[in-house]
Amino acid sequence: MGMKRREDTVEGFRVLTLTYRMDELPSEQRERLKEPFEKYRAIAAMYYWSKRLGLEEGVEQALKRAREELPSYWRKALDEESPLYAFSELEKMRRPRKHVLKLPLTEALQVRQQNEKPKNGALIDCKESKLVIYPGNGVRIELPIPKRALSWLKEKEDEVAPLTVHRTVRIQWRPERAQALKVQIMLRVERPKPPRPDPKEALLCYVDVNSRYGVAVVFAAYDGQRVKVFETPKFRPPNQGRRLREAAKRERAAARGSKPNVNYALARLSKKFDASGWVKATTARIFEKALEYAKGRPVWVNADIPDDGTVRGSRLQRTLLSIGRAAANLAAWYGVYVTFQCHSSHRCPLCGGELEELKAKRTRVMRCECGFREDRDYILFYHWLRALGLPLPKHPLATLPNDPEA
Ligand SMILES: [Zn+2]
Ligand SMILES: [Zn+2]
Repeated sequence: MGMKRREDTVEGFRVLTLTYRMDELPSEQRERLKEPFEKYRAIAAMYYWSKRLGLEEGVEQALKRAREELPSYWRKALDEESPLYAFSELEKMRRPRKHVLKLPLTEALQVRQQNEKPKNGALIDCKESKLVIYPGNGVRIELPIPKRALSWLKEKEDEVAPLTVHRTVRIQWRPERAQALKVQIMLRVERPKPPRPDPKEALLCYVDVNSRYGVAVVFAAYDGQRVKVFETPKFRPPNQGRRLREAAKRERAAARGSKPNVNYALARLSKKFDASGWVKATTARIFEKALEYAKGRPVWVNADIPDDGTVRGSRLQRTLLSIGRAAANLAAWYGVYVTFQCHSSHRCPLCGGELEELKAKRTRVMRCECGFREDRDYILFYHWLRALGLPLPKHPLATLPNDPEA
């Protein structure tokens, strides 16, 4: 978004994505959508490349065509003064396609008030469960919205009440795709930058992202005497090998004629794992848990994420690193204080000695000559507590597998 924002504020976003098949829409509506889309795409592409190549007359022509051919609201994507301007980081755009195809609609998506008859923008009609879009020039487009999506939107807005939530709708059209029409309802909230809480007063949440296995989290708080650990969940993305074997099994069953429709559909689902969706959902669960344990206290999340450069591996493993961005966004959304410090898993948090890794079946146990023993995943959290000036909790946090050398 090109919105100007004050230095001492942060902005957080939540996005609801809905997909529609073009052939499910009434043909009249389909035509109304297709025409401005086709025009917009041609004009936006011309604008993009002319800007990129420094062709003033190309830019002028694109803007002239936009004035003549595009409904008023959709022209704002090409208006540098508008918050809906879609080309603000033109030089950095590697994939213009995404931006050229994305059509922002309005900053003023509204829930319909009684007797209100807007002529521009878009609105959500809760009673009829539909999104009504007025792109200008008297055009009206209606898309159904599932009830579940409506309650999700309501839930998200309640989370940040009484702050104002700004809503934007974007639609994307990919004629070569079956689910050709993608509608994104974007919620944006702006709030003062959360202050650094007193570590003794805060709910502490350590998020350790490790490209080898996933995400290990510690939820804890100081109770006046010592640090109490509430929960230490680990989140692992579904195993790819297992998913592919499962898909192959389904395909064989379908080929033998056993419920082919169901089995082919399930095979497709198993193959198509949405890694960035998993990262977003997992990060959201971590924040929801942190806020539950906080019971009104301030929350401090530290996300320990390895450097991009040091990570070798699959796309899924690299996608894990995007937890940093997801965490920064959710921290802004909820008003949570977030840091991105990295801590050592090789040094003993008690004496500073070198830790030795013991091979155990499921858990990687680290041991020090001073007698300290702990699951490798929690060592980082101990170092964070030391850095915050807090005493360590009773350890080990969980029962460790038997020391094979003991
Ligand atoms: Zn680290
Ligand atoms: Zn030690």
